[in-house]
Amino acid sequence: MASSFSDASSRSSSPPASAGRDETPVGAVIVFEDRIVARAGNETRARRDPTAHAEMLAIRRACEAVGEERLPGFDLYVTLEPCAMCAAAISFARIRRLYFGAYDPKGGAVTSGPRFYAQPTCHHQPEVYSGIGEQASAELLRAFFRSKRA
Ligand SMILES: [Zn+2]
Repeated sequence: MASSFSDASSRSSSPPASAGRDETPVGAVIVFEDRIVARAGNETRARRDPTAHAEMLAIRRACEAVGEERLPGFDLYVTLEPCAMCAAAISFARIRRLYFGAYDPKGGAVTSGPRFYAQPTCHHQPEVYSGIGEQASAELLRAFFRSKRA
């Protein structure tokens, strides 16, 4: 990925009316026993909330849906390698398996950067499957950043 998230965010100081359309197109889905329990996209701009990443919102919705604070046996699919915040939230939620698409060498924290799950302070490591649909995910993100530059 040529562009970074900070590039994208500094470039688009959009008026509130267009909030929501400029979100980095990251999507997350939480699945339990082949059933989708929650899905979400990034909503940091729409909600004016720096923590409103797709994974965070999906975890909140899944916890609400099942009335639990933890999601053992649940799997999370996300188009982009999770950041440190989301990697931690996935661990706290006791997610069983994490599937992600594109690697994010600049902002990721699973196989990149801090490698959150490899730290001794991480008490629950999900099984990680990376590069799932990587090409499609990377292309979606590239298209998004291209449109930002146009
Ligand atoms: Zn995140």
